[in-house]
Amino acid sequence: MRYTARLGNMNSHLAVIGRFAPSPTGALHAGSLVAALGSCLSARSRAGRWLLRMEDLDTPRCSPAAEATILRQLERLGFTWDGPVIRQSERLDAYHDALQMLRNGGWTYACTCSRRERAQDGTDSCCGGCSERALAPSGRHSVRVRVDDRPITFADRYCGMQQQVPRQCGGDFVILRADGYFAYQLAVVVDDAASGITEVVRGADLLDSTGRQIHLQRLLGLPPVRYGHLPLVYNTLGQKLSKQTRAAPVGEHDPLTDLQQAMVALGQTMEPVGSVEAFWRRAVEIWDESRIPSSPV
Ligand code: GLU
Repeated sequence: MRYTARLGNMNSHLAVIGRFAPSPTGALHAGSLVAALGSCLSARSRAGRWLLRMEDLDTPRCSPAAEATILRQLERLGFTWDGPVIRQSERLDAYHDALQMLRNGGWTYACTCSRRERAQDGTDSCCGGCSERALAPSGRHSVRVRVDDRPITFADRYCGMQQQVPRQCGGDFVILRADGYFAYQLAVVVDDAASGITEVVRGADLLDSTGRQIHLQRLLGLPPVRYGHLPLVYNTLGQKLSKQTRAAPVGEHDPLTDLQQAMVALGQTMEPVGSVEAFWRRAVEIWDESRIPSSPV
């Protein structure tokens, strides 16, 4: 079937395949380095593969310059990835196929709520009514996927058992935005399956997206993935490091120190080493995932 062929998903044998999936909207900071290092060491310490995917769907915010910066930073930090860099902007056909499959299953509807209407209750939910409409609207609209009341449970490797009810986490959610861009939740699920990803290791800020992603995996008949959400890094004001809080870029001046600090954030104890190469040799040996601090949920 064309859909399955494009999505891949035949890769579910035992080998570990992890990934790092930055959005090229700015340079990597200490928080993104924790996600990159944790996901890489998780895979490499079990002789697994580690892939790099640029989540560049939101083209007004993403830029080739930011992608070049991220690649330079990762290289200076001594990261090596398997295969070519994957770009979401080159995978639109696969997202179209997935959307069509959800549509055919009756799982989607067009939502015409404006941003202002949606913002009234402080969530991104549909204000109601759109899901009952008999005919598709002709004007500007997003596409939402339906959720139900069943709780989704999963064992997070670092944060423990989780239970999420998508209905209570914003309800039916957008998979195709009104501006025509596919939404993160759909793209990430389609791409992880296509690459045969067996484990998603990333920052704890994405923990509450996981239930929605598992919901989509199930609707699309894609294989389950193991999840591990890593601690976030905060600045001295207690704000999560991000591009918005102007977090400093890593890897440019003293990559070894940046790597060692990321190891501390990951709960790992490692004796000092003299070079980035020595760091990687040793980090893979001493990596102990039972020491990763669990994040407050
Ligand atoms: N692109 C997302 C970010 O930069 C990460 C997505 C993921 O790891 O699932 O926050």
